[in-house]
Amino acid sequence: MENIIKDIDIISGEEDTNSDFKVTAEENTGKAKRLYIESYGCQMNFSDSEIVASIMKETGFDTTSDFNNADVILLNTCSIRDKAERTVRKRLSQFNQVKKANPELKIGVLGCMAERLKEKLLEEEKLVDLVVGPDAYRDLPSLVSLAEDGQKGINTFLSREETYADISPVRLNSNGVSALISIMRGCDNMCSFCVVPFTRGRERSRDPHSITKEAKELFDQGYREVTLLGQNVDSYKWSSEENNKARLNKKENEVSQVVYFSDLLEMVANVDPKLRVRFSTSHPKDITDKVLETMKQYENICNYIHLPVQSGNSRVLEMMNRTYDREWYLDRIKKIREILGENCGISSDMIAGFCSETEEEHQDTLSIMDIVKFDFSYMFYYSERPGTLAEKKYKDDIPLAVKNVGSRRSLTSKVPFHL
Ligand code: SF4
Repeated sequence: MENIIKDIDIISGEEDTNSDFKVTAEENTGKAKRLYIESYGCQMNFSDSEIVASIMKETGFDTTSDFNNADVILLNTCSIRDKAERTVRKRLSQFNQVKKANPELKIGVLGCMAERLKEKLLEEEKLVDLVVGPDAYRDLPSLVSLAEDGQKGINTFLSREETYADISPVRLNSNGVSALISIMRGCDNMCSFCVVPFTRGRERSRDPHSITKEAKELFDQGYREVTLLGQNVDSYKWSSEENNKARLNKKENEVSQVVYFSDLLEMVANVDPKLRVRFSTSHPKDITDKVLETMKQYENICNYIHLPVQSGNSRVLEMMNRTYDREWYLDRIKKIREILGENCGISSDMIAGFCSETEEEHQDTLSIMDIVKFDFSYMFYYSERPGTLAEKKYKDDIPLAVKNVGSRRSLTSKVPFHL
Protein backbone atom coordinates (compact mmCIF):
# COMPACT_ATOMS: atom_id res chain seq x y z
CA MET A 1 0.00 0.00 0.00
CA GLU A 2 1.43 3.34 -0.98
CA ASN A 3 1.42 6.27 1.43
CA ILE A 4 -2.10 7.57 1.57
CA ILE A 5 -1.88 10.20 4.23
CA LYS A 6 0.07 13.39 4.55
CA ASP A 7 0.82 15.83 7.37
CA ILE A 8 -0.69 19.28 7.29
CA ASP A 9 0.04 22.18 9.61
CA ILE A 10 -2.74 24.69 10.06
CA ILE A 11 -0.96 27.92 10.74
CA SER A 12 -3.30 30.65 11.78
CA GLY A 13 -2.43 34.20 12.70
CA GLU A 14 -4.13 33.80 16.05
CA GLU A 15 -2.12 32.80 19.06
CA ASP A 16 -3.15 29.45 20.53
CA THR A 17 -5.03 28.12 17.51
CA ASN A 18 -2.25 26.40 15.63
CA SER A 19 -2.69 22.70 15.21
CA ASP A 20 -1.40 19.72 13.32
CA PHE A 21 -3.54 17.10 11.71
CA LYS A 22 -3.15 14.31 9.24
CA VAL A 23 -5.38 13.73 6.27
CA THR A 24 -6.05 10.80 4.02
CA ALA A 25 -4.36 10.89 0.63
CA GLU A 26 -5.65 9.72 -2.75
CA GLU A 27 -6.31 6.04 -3.20
CA ASN A 28 -8.43 5.19 -6.19
CA THR A 29 -9.32 1.52 -6.50
CA GLY A 30 -12.51 2.20 -8.43
CA LYS A 31 -14.87 2.29 -5.48
CA ALA A 32 -18.08 4.29 -5.78
CA LYS A 33 -17.54 6.83 -3.00
CA ARG A 34 -14.80 8.97 -1.49
CA LEU A 35 -13.87 9.34 2.16
CA TYR A 36 -11.78 12.18 3.59
CA ILE A 37 -10.50 11.91 7.20
CA GLU A 38 -8.68 14.54 9.24
CA SER A 39 -7.05 13.14 12.37
CA TYR A 40 -6.15 15.35 15.31
CA GLY A 41 -4.35 14.70 18.59
CA CYS A 42 -2.46 11.62 19.72
CA GLN A 43 -1.08 8.59 17.92
CA MET A 44 -4.04 6.54 19.16
CA ASN A 45 -6.28 8.74 17.02
CA PHE A 46 -4.06 8.28 13.96
CA SER A 47 -4.16 4.54 14.57
CA ASP A 48 -7.96 4.65 14.98
CA SER A 49 -8.33 6.49 11.67
CA GLU A 50 -6.59 3.53 10.02
CA ILE A 51 -9.23 1.24 11.53
CA VAL A 52 -11.99 3.60 10.34
CA ALA A 53 -10.57 3.69 6.80
CA SER A 54 -10.46 -0.11 6.80
CA ILE A 55 -14.10 -0.40 7.93
CA MET A 56 -15.24 2.17 5.35
CA LYS A 57 -13.21 0.56 2.57
CA GLU A 58 -15.19 -2.64 3.08
CA THR A 59 -18.38 -0.70 2.40
CA GLY A 60 -17.30 0.96 -0.83
CA PHE A 61 -15.15 3.99 0.02
CA ASP A 62 -11.81 5.00 -1.48
CA THR A 63 -9.87 7.75 0.30
CA THR A 64 -9.20 11.26 -0.97
CA SER A 65 -6.87 14.08 0.07
CA ASP A 66 -9.27 16.75 -1.19
CA PHE A 67 -12.39 17.33 0.90
CA ASN A 68 -14.00 18.99 -2.13
CA ASN A 69 -14.13 15.55 -3.76
CA ALA A 70 -15.43 13.72 -0.70
CA ASP A 71 -18.84 12.12 -0.15
CA VAL A 72 -18.07 11.82 3.55
CA ILE A 73 -15.77 14.01 5.68
CA LEU A 74 -14.77 12.65 9.10
CA LEU A 75 -12.89 14.64 11.74
CA ASN A 76 -11.23 12.33 14.27
CA THR A 77 -10.95 14.66 17.23
CA CYS A 78 -9.07 15.23 20.47
CA SER A 79 -10.43 16.65 23.76
CA ILE A 80 -7.28 16.71 25.84
CA ARG A 81 -7.11 20.51 25.82
CA ASP A 82 -9.63 23.25 25.22
CA LYS A 83 -7.48 24.46 22.34
CA ALA A 84 -7.86 21.11 20.54
CA GLU A 85 -11.65 21.40 20.65
CA ARG A 86 -11.62 25.04 19.51
CA THR A 87 -9.50 24.05 16.52
CA VAL A 88 -12.09 21.45 15.45
CA ARG A 89 -14.99 23.90 15.90
CA LYS A 90 -13.16 26.38 13.70
CA ARG A 91 -12.49 23.72 11.11
CA LEU A 92 -16.17 22.71 11.07
CA SER A 93 -17.16 26.31 10.36
CA GLN A 94 -14.81 26.23 7.36
CA PHE A 95 -16.71 23.22 6.00
CA ASN A 96 -19.98 25.18 5.88
CA GLN A 97 -19.12 26.51 2.43
CA VAL A 98 -18.18 23.06 1.18
CA LYS A 99 -21.50 21.67 2.34
CA LYS A 100 -23.39 24.54 0.69
CA ALA A 101 -21.67 23.69 -2.60
CA ASN A 102 -22.42 19.98 -2.12
CA PRO A 103 -25.57 19.44 -0.03
CA GLU A 104 -25.22 15.64 -0.34
CA LEU A 105 -21.94 15.76 1.58
CA LYS A 106 -22.05 14.07 5.01
CA ILE A 107 -19.87 15.35 7.84
CA GLY A 108 -19.01 13.32 10.92
CA VAL A 109 -17.15 13.95 14.16
CA LEU A 110 -15.33 10.96 15.64
CA GLY A 111 -13.12 10.37 18.67
CA CYS A 112 -12.85 12.03 22.06
CA MET A 113 -14.80 15.20 21.29
CA ALA A 114 -17.70 13.12 19.93
CA GLU A 115 -17.66 11.00 23.08
CA ARG A 116 -17.46 13.98 25.42
CA LEU A 117 -20.17 16.12 23.83
CA LYS A 118 -22.51 13.46 22.38
CA GLU A 119 -25.91 14.88 21.23
CA LYS A 120 -24.82 18.36 22.25
CA LEU A 121 -22.46 18.38 19.28
CA LEU A 122 -25.36 17.71 16.90
CA GLU A 123 -27.32 20.52 18.52
CA GLU A 124 -24.47 23.02 18.46
CA GLU A 125 -22.95 22.22 15.05
CA LYS A 126 -25.86 22.04 12.63
CA LEU A 127 -23.76 20.86 9.68
CA VAL A 128 -22.67 17.70 11.54
CA ASP A 129 -24.54 14.54 10.45
CA LEU A 130 -22.67 11.91 12.47
CA VAL A 131 -21.24 11.74 16.00
CA VAL A 132 -19.35 8.53 16.68
CA GLY A 133 -17.29 7.62 19.77
CA PRO A 134 -14.03 5.64 19.74
CA ASP A 135 -15.66 2.27 20.51
CA ALA A 136 -18.43 2.54 17.89
CA TYR A 137 -16.52 2.61 14.60
CA ARG A 138 -17.94 -0.73 13.45
CA ASP A 139 -21.29 1.06 13.36
CA LEU A 140 -20.03 3.77 10.95
CA PRO A 141 -21.37 2.23 7.70
CA SER A 142 -24.92 2.00 9.07
CA LEU A 143 -24.69 5.49 10.58
CA VAL A 144 -23.52 6.87 7.21
CA SER A 145 -26.52 5.15 5.53
CA LEU A 146 -28.78 6.76 8.10
CA ALA A 147 -27.27 10.16 7.31
CA GLU A 148 -27.72 9.50 3.57
CA ASP A 149 -31.43 8.98 4.31
CA GLY A 150 -31.52 12.44 5.84
CA GLN A 151 -31.27 11.50 9.51
CA LYS A 152 -28.60 12.25 12.10
CA GLY A 153 -26.44 9.30 13.19
CA ILE A 154 -25.02 8.99 16.69
CA ASN A 155 -23.33 6.18 18.62
CA THR A 156 -21.18 6.99 21.63
CA PHE A 157 -21.51 3.65 23.41
CA LEU A 158 -18.32 2.82 25.33
CA SER A 159 -17.43 -0.85 25.35
CA ARG A 160 -15.55 -2.95 27.90
CA GLU A 161 -14.58 -5.46 25.24
CA GLU A 162 -13.95 -3.71 21.90
CA THR A 163 -10.30 -3.81 20.75
CA TYR A 164 -10.84 -4.01 16.95
CA ALA A 165 -8.46 -6.98 17.14
CA ASP A 166 -9.76 -8.59 13.95
CA ILE A 167 -9.59 -5.45 11.79
CA SER A 168 -6.59 -5.12 9.56
CA PRO A 169 -5.93 -1.35 9.50
CA VAL A 170 -5.44 0.50 6.21
CA ARG A 171 -2.00 2.11 6.72
CA LEU A 172 -2.79 5.78 6.37
CA ASN A 173 0.32 7.55 7.57
CA SER A 174 2.68 5.05 6.14
CA ASN A 175 6.19 5.70 4.94
CA GLY A 176 6.36 1.97 4.24
CA VAL A 177 8.83 1.53 7.11
CA SER A 178 7.14 2.47 10.41
CA ALA A 179 3.65 1.52 11.54
CA LEU A 180 1.48 1.91 14.63
CA ILE A 181 -0.08 -1.11 16.34
CA SER A 182 -2.77 -0.52 18.91
CA ILE A 183 -2.37 -3.01 21.80
CA MET A 184 -5.01 -1.77 24.21
CA ARG A 185 -7.77 0.79 24.58
CA GLY A 186 -9.06 3.07 27.33
CA CYS A 187 -7.51 3.97 30.66
CA ASP A 188 -8.39 3.14 34.29
CA ASN A 189 -6.03 5.61 35.91
CA MET A 190 -8.20 8.66 36.55
CA CYS A 191 -5.46 11.28 36.64
CA SER A 192 -7.42 14.26 37.95
CA PHE A 193 -6.64 16.57 35.00
CA CYS A 194 -7.40 14.05 32.27
CA VAL A 195 -10.52 13.54 30.19
CA VAL A 196 -9.36 10.29 28.57
CA PRO A 197 -11.02 7.84 31.01
CA PHE A 198 -14.34 9.53 30.18
CA THR A 199 -13.84 9.66 26.41
CA ARG A 200 -12.10 6.34 25.79
CA GLY A 201 -13.62 4.25 28.54
CA ARG A 202 -12.30 1.40 30.63
CA GLU A 203 -9.00 -0.20 29.89
CA ARG A 204 -8.91 -3.42 27.87
CA SER A 205 -6.04 -5.31 26.28
CA ARG A 206 -5.98 -6.78 22.81
CA ASP A 207 -5.29 -10.47 22.12
CA PRO A 208 -1.48 -10.76 21.86
CA HIS A 209 -1.73 -13.26 19.03
CA SER A 210 -3.58 -10.74 16.86
CA ILE A 211 -0.83 -8.21 17.71
CA THR A 212 2.05 -10.50 16.70
CA LYS A 213 0.11 -11.52 13.58
CA GLU A 214 -0.22 -7.86 12.61
CA ALA A 215 3.49 -7.26 13.31
CA LYS A 216 4.44 -10.26 11.18
CA GLU A 217 2.23 -9.13 8.30
CA LEU A 218 3.78 -5.67 8.47
CA PHE A 219 7.27 -7.15 8.45
CA ASP A 220 6.41 -9.30 5.44
CA GLN A 221 5.14 -6.16 3.66
CA GLY A 222 8.52 -4.50 4.19
CA TYR A 223 7.91 -2.52 7.39
CA ARG A 224 10.87 -2.48 9.75
CA GLU A 225 9.57 -0.59 12.78
CA VAL A 226 6.40 -0.91 14.84
CA THR A 227 5.20 1.25 17.73
CA LEU A 228 2.97 -0.54 20.23
CA LEU A 229 0.34 1.95 21.34
CA GLY A 230 -1.81 2.34 24.42
CA GLN A 231 -2.70 5.03 26.96
CA ASN A 232 -0.77 3.05 29.56
CA VAL A 233 1.11 0.18 27.92
CA ASP A 234 2.69 -1.01 31.17
CA SER A 235 -0.67 -2.12 32.50
CA TYR A 236 -1.31 -4.33 29.46
CA LYS A 237 -2.73 -7.57 30.81
CA TRP A 238 -4.46 -10.29 28.82
CA SER A 239 -5.74 -13.78 29.43
CA SER A 240 -7.65 -16.04 27.05
CA GLU A 241 -9.91 -17.01 29.94
CA GLU A 242 -10.88 -13.53 31.09
CA ASN A 243 -10.35 -10.27 29.25
CA ASN A 244 -12.43 -8.01 31.45
CA LYS A 245 -9.65 -6.14 33.27
CA ALA A 246 -11.47 -5.72 36.59
CA ARG A 247 -12.45 -9.40 36.74
CA LEU A 248 -8.98 -10.49 35.60
CA ASN A 249 -7.40 -8.43 38.40
CA LYS A 250 -9.61 -10.24 40.91
CA LYS A 251 -8.89 -13.76 39.72
CA GLU A 252 -5.36 -13.36 38.41
CA ASN A 253 -4.20 -16.44 40.34
CA GLU A 254 -7.00 -18.63 39.04
CA VAL A 255 -6.33 -18.28 35.29
CA SER A 256 -3.71 -20.52 33.76
CA GLN A 257 -1.79 -17.85 31.85
CA VAL A 258 -1.65 -14.07 31.96
CA VAL A 259 0.27 -12.12 29.30
CA TYR A 260 1.85 -8.95 30.74
CA PHE A 261 3.46 -6.11 28.81
CA SER A 262 6.98 -7.54 29.22
CA ASP A 263 5.71 -10.84 27.69
CA LEU A 264 4.07 -9.00 24.82
CA LEU A 265 7.24 -7.02 24.13
CA GLU A 266 9.18 -10.26 23.95
CA MET A 267 6.62 -11.84 21.62
CA VAL A 268 6.76 -8.87 19.22
CA ALA A 269 10.58 -8.66 19.41
CA ASN A 270 10.69 -12.32 18.41
CA VAL A 271 8.67 -11.69 15.24
CA ASP A 272 11.99 -10.91 13.56
CA PRO A 273 15.31 -9.50 14.87
CA LYS A 274 15.22 -7.00 11.99
CA LEU A 275 11.93 -5.51 13.20
CA ARG A 276 12.55 -2.54 15.51
CA VAL A 277 10.04 -2.31 18.34
CA ARG A 278 8.94 0.88 20.11
CA PHE A 279 6.12 1.54 22.55
CA SER A 280 4.19 4.45 24.04
CA THR A 281 3.02 5.56 26.61
CA SER A 282 4.57 4.28 29.83
CA HIS A 283 3.34 5.19 33.32
CA PRO A 284 5.88 5.70 36.13
CA LYS A 285 3.75 3.74 38.59
CA ASP A 286 3.50 0.70 36.32
CA ILE A 287 6.75 0.34 34.40
CA THR A 288 8.42 -2.76 35.84
CA ASP A 289 12.03 -3.91 36.05
CA LYS A 290 10.90 -6.88 33.95
CA VAL A 291 10.01 -4.51 31.09
CA LEU A 292 13.45 -2.88 31.39
CA GLU A 293 15.18 -6.28 31.48
CA THR A 294 13.27 -7.36 28.38
CA MET A 295 14.35 -4.18 26.61
CA LYS A 296 17.94 -4.95 27.53
CA GLN A 297 17.67 -8.52 26.36
CA TYR A 298 16.43 -7.68 22.84
CA GLU A 299 18.56 -5.47 20.64
CA ASN A 300 15.63 -4.75 18.37
CA ILE A 301 13.61 -3.11 21.18
CA CYS A 302 14.57 0.56 20.92
CA ASN A 303 16.40 2.04 23.89
CA TYR A 304 13.87 4.78 24.50
CA ILE A 305 11.07 5.37 27.00
CA HIS A 306 8.42 8.08 27.05
CA LEU A 307 7.76 8.43 30.80
CA PRO A 308 5.52 11.44 31.56
CA VAL A 309 6.31 13.02 34.93
CA GLN A 310 3.63 15.80 34.71
CA SER A 311 5.04 17.55 37.82
CA GLY A 312 8.25 17.37 39.84
CA ASN A 313 6.46 18.16 43.10
CA SER A 314 4.93 15.44 45.29
CA ARG A 315 1.99 17.52 46.58
CA VAL A 316 0.99 18.47 43.04
CA LEU A 317 1.43 14.87 41.88
CA GLU A 318 -0.93 13.75 44.64
CA MET A 319 -3.52 16.30 43.56
CA MET A 320 -3.09 15.10 40.01
CA ASN A 321 -3.81 11.55 41.31
CA ARG A 322 -0.70 10.25 39.57
CA THR A 323 -0.18 7.73 42.43
CA TYR A 324 3.59 8.24 42.60
CA ASP A 325 5.72 10.96 44.11
CA ARG A 326 8.91 12.76 43.08
CA GLU A 327 11.13 10.15 44.78
CA TRP A 328 9.34 7.25 43.09
CA TYR A 329 9.78 8.88 39.68
CA LEU A 330 13.48 9.54 40.27
CA ASP A 331 13.91 5.97 41.48
CA ARG A 332 12.40 4.69 38.22
CA ILE A 333 14.83 6.89 36.27
CA LYS A 334 17.71 5.49 38.33
CA LYS A 335 16.57 1.97 37.53
CA ILE A 336 16.32 2.77 33.80
CA ARG A 337 19.88 4.13 33.86
CA GLU A 338 21.09 1.09 35.85
CA ILE A 339 19.54 -1.50 33.54
CA LEU A 340 19.59 0.25 30.17
CA GLY A 341 22.53 2.61 30.64
CA GLU A 342 22.99 6.35 30.33
CA ASN A 343 22.25 6.23 26.62
CA CYS A 344 18.63 5.19 27.03
CA GLY A 345 16.50 8.02 25.62
CA ILE A 346 13.90 9.37 28.03
CA SER A 347 11.18 11.88 27.23
CA SER A 348 8.33 13.31 29.24
CA ASP A 349 5.13 15.36 29.45
CA MET A 350 4.87 18.26 31.92
CA ILE A 351 2.10 20.56 33.06
CA ALA A 352 2.73 24.09 34.36
CA GLY A 353 0.17 25.92 36.48
CA PHE A 354 -1.92 23.05 37.83
CA CYS A 355 -4.51 24.13 40.43
CA SER A 356 -2.87 25.86 43.44
CA GLU A 357 0.70 25.17 42.21
CA THR A 358 3.15 27.60 43.83
CA GLU A 359 6.28 29.06 42.27
CA GLU A 360 8.42 26.75 44.48
CA GLU A 361 6.45 23.71 43.31
CA HIS A 362 6.91 24.76 39.70
CA GLN A 363 10.63 25.07 40.42
CA ASP A 364 10.55 21.39 41.48
CA THR A 365 9.41 20.53 37.95
CA LEU A 366 12.28 22.55 36.49
CA SER A 367 14.73 20.86 38.84
CA ILE A 368 13.59 17.38 37.81
CA MET A 369 14.44 18.39 34.24
CA ASP A 370 17.95 19.28 35.35
CA ILE A 371 18.32 15.96 37.16
CA VAL A 372 16.89 13.63 34.50
CA LYS A 373 18.15 15.48 31.42
CA PHE A 374 15.25 14.41 29.24
CA ASP A 375 15.89 14.08 25.54
CA PHE A 376 12.69 15.99 24.91
CA SER A 377 9.38 16.81 26.52
CA TYR A 378 5.89 17.96 25.64
CA MET A 379 5.23 21.09 27.71
CA PHE A 380 1.70 22.27 28.46
CA TYR A 381 0.07 24.79 30.66
CA TYR A 382 -2.88 23.39 32.60
CA SER A 383 -6.16 23.43 30.67
CA GLU A 384 -9.20 22.59 32.79
CA ARG A 385 -11.45 20.02 31.14
CA PRO A 386 -15.14 19.68 31.97
CA GLY A 387 -16.09 16.56 33.89
CA THR A 388 -12.61 15.73 35.18
CA LEU A 389 -11.86 15.16 38.86
CA ALA A 390 -9.77 18.35 38.96
CA GLU A 391 -12.64 20.39 37.58
CA LYS A 392 -14.94 19.01 40.29
CA LYS A 393 -12.50 19.24 43.20
CA TYR A 394 -10.07 22.10 42.60
CA LYS A 395 -10.07 25.71 41.54
CA ASP A 396 -8.25 26.53 38.31
CA ASP A 397 -6.64 29.47 40.08
CA ILE A 398 -3.34 30.14 38.32
CA PRO A 399 -3.70 33.08 35.90
CA LEU A 400 -3.21 32.14 32.25
CA ALA A 401 -0.30 34.58 31.91
CA VAL A 402 1.54 32.85 34.78
CA LYS A 403 0.81 29.37 33.42
CA ASN A 404 2.02 30.47 30.01
CA VAL A 405 5.27 31.82 31.40
CA GLY A 406 5.69 28.57 33.36
CA SER A 407 5.27 26.30 30.34
CA ARG A 408 7.56 28.51 28.24
CA ARG A 409 10.12 28.78 31.01
CA SER A 410 10.33 24.99 30.98
CA LEU A 411 11.37 25.26 27.35
CA THR A 412 14.21 27.65 28.15
CA SER A 413 15.58 25.58 31.01
CA LYS A 414 19.27 24.74 30.71
CA VAL A 415 18.32 21.17 29.90
CA PRO A 416 19.31 20.35 26.32
CA PHE A 417 15.95 19.80 24.64
CA HIS A 418 15.64 18.44 21.13
CA LEU A 419 12.20 19.77 20.30
S1 SF4 B 1 -2.62 7.65 32.50
FE1 SF4 B 1 -3.60 9.51 33.29
S2 SF4 B 1 -3.00 11.09 31.79
FE2 SF4 B 1 -2.65 9.11 30.80
S3 SF4 B 1 -4.57 8.69 29.68
FE3 SF4 B 1 -4.76 7.70 31.68
S4 SF4 B 1 -5.83 9.19 32.98
FE4 SF4 B 1 -5.03 10.31 31.17
